[in-house]
Amino acid sequence: MQQAFDWAIEQADSVWLETDMRAHYNPTRMGVIQQATQDLIAKLNHTCPNCGYPGFAITEHQRGLPCELCGQPTASIRSIVYGCQHCGFQQTVEFPDGLRFADPTYCEYCNP
Ligand SMILES: [Zn+2]
Ligand SMILES: [Zn+2]
Repeated sequence: MQQAFDWAIEQADSVWLETDMRAHYNPTRMGVIQQATQDLIAKLNHTCPNCGYPGFAITEHQRGLPCELCGQPTASIRSIVYGCQHCGFQQTVEFPDGLRFADPTYCEYCNP
């Protein structure tokens, strides 16, 4: 666990160094870096439930959320797969937006 913590600090440090070098000159770039930093923090907050290593992150988006009207799979996200870069453990989160059905607008069958 100590090893994982050291790794997290290392990653965070390199991001802050980059931020210092370029952020002052370009507001747009600063926004991008801020976003990247937030992504990294969100990533580090996700530790692998199997080995405890940080960086348990989204590896795949699975489409096919069923249409509200006809139940056919649509192109909307149905589930998200998280994967551990350390041990290869994977976890699927169904209906990540809390929606179990897609709007018929996105259905090829109801709304071609
Ligand atoms: Zn439909
Ligand atoms: Zn793991």
